[in-house]
Amino acid sequence: MIERVTSCRVCGGTSLTPFFDLGEQPFANALLKNPNDPDPRYPLALLFCNTCSLVQLTHRASERELFAHYVWVSGTSTAIHSFSEQFSDELLRRAPLAKNGYVLEIASNDGTMLKPFLKRGLEVLGIDPAENIAAMANQAGIPTEPVFWSREAARDLVTRKGPSPIIFARNVLPHVSNQRDFAEGLSIALAEDGVLAIEIHYAGVILKDLHYDSIYHEHHCYFSLRAVERLLSECGLQAFDIMQSPINAGNIILYLRKGPQSPSPTLATLRAEEEAQGVHQLGPWQEFAIRAKHHKEELVALLGKLLSEGKSIAGYGASARSSTMLNFCGIDNEILPVIADKSPLKQGLVTAGTHIKIVSPAEMLKEAPDIVMLLAWNFKEEIVAELRNSYDYTGRFLTPFPTISIE
Ligand SMILES: [Zn+2]
Repeated sequence: MIERVTSCRVCGGTSLTPFFDLGEQPFANALLKNPNDPDPRYPLALLFCNTCSLVQLTHRASERELFAHYVWVSGTSTAIHSFSEQFSDELLRRAPLAKNGYVLEIASNDGTMLKPFLKRGLEVLGIDPAENIAAMANQAGIPTEPVFWSREAARDLVTRKGPSPIIFARNVLPHVSNQRDFAEGLSIALAEDGVLAIEIHYAGVILKDLHYDSIYHEHHCYFSLRAVERLLSECGLQAFDIMQSPINAGNIILYLRKGPQSPSPTLATLRAEEEAQGVHQLGPWQEFAIRAKHHKEELVALLGKLLSEGKSIAGYGASARSSTMLNFCGIDNEILPVIADKSPLKQGLVTAGTHIKIVSPAEMLKEAPDIVMLLAWNFKEEIVAELRNSYDYTGRFLTPFPTISIE
């Protein structure tokens, strides 16, 4: 089920330094039907590769076990719909040759990101390992194949359909256990003059803004630009441009082609900034671990003070990220009786490890909590606007990251 990592996932180096132990934690997406269900916990800790500087988990969990619990459906966020339009514009602008052939998305979830391409009359294909979610996408008119992406899957696809001139893979590369196999698959499936876009949660921002809540078993690697470029370039894919994701705090979208490329000014700047920030050194990551422990103490003290003043608190967003923060900080159902989540797939379940009931936003607001703690704080604007405008919520919001605040 879970094994200790003895060599770097990307470079194979064996000089590895563990630097941050988050304790034994359940799989972040393993929501329970009932608080009495088995609720296993596994080691969750980070190590630093002294050879290539890649930050990664000390243990590797079985991919099929992790994905069996996958319930995130991207279409539940309204911000994602407008982002999908913008994303397709940005990608097509960089890939003028996309008119012929199909647009391929790996880990396409419910197909939300492929819809704008379909609207423009392009052929699309999604690949997603979760059978139930692939079936939902097919029903919604987005052709989707339920397979795990790999070299083998790529060869099979190219035999049937030929290579693709546009491929994108958002928030999936760090989540697969064999990054090299996955990346080589992308190279195999990409046409010679095609463009690939990769979105990842960026290690430079994780380090700077203390995003320790993004550490969970599904998230094997925390890529710096240098580490992700190294992996992809070894598979024949060279970066030429980069942009910040407008909706996912701290995410970058990297654009790549085959063959030698000259970097855009934005890419060249980020490479230099990363070097200066110390993302490739162990010291700043050891400080990160200390800062995370201080953050935990501060947050727990604040929640204790609010409860002692008689304030009621509810959570919003039963995301994977919230699971890590709740378990690391020991915030359970005594502190937060409920968490609201818009996804009907999650409502009625309880959080793993902390046993907090997940309910609809309307049900959470029936109790009129004094404070809503934003666990999905990366969607803060959207959630605040919705609770204020659609539900007339007049209480306060507690935002845990990047710094703890109540407003
Ligand atoms: Zn390495």
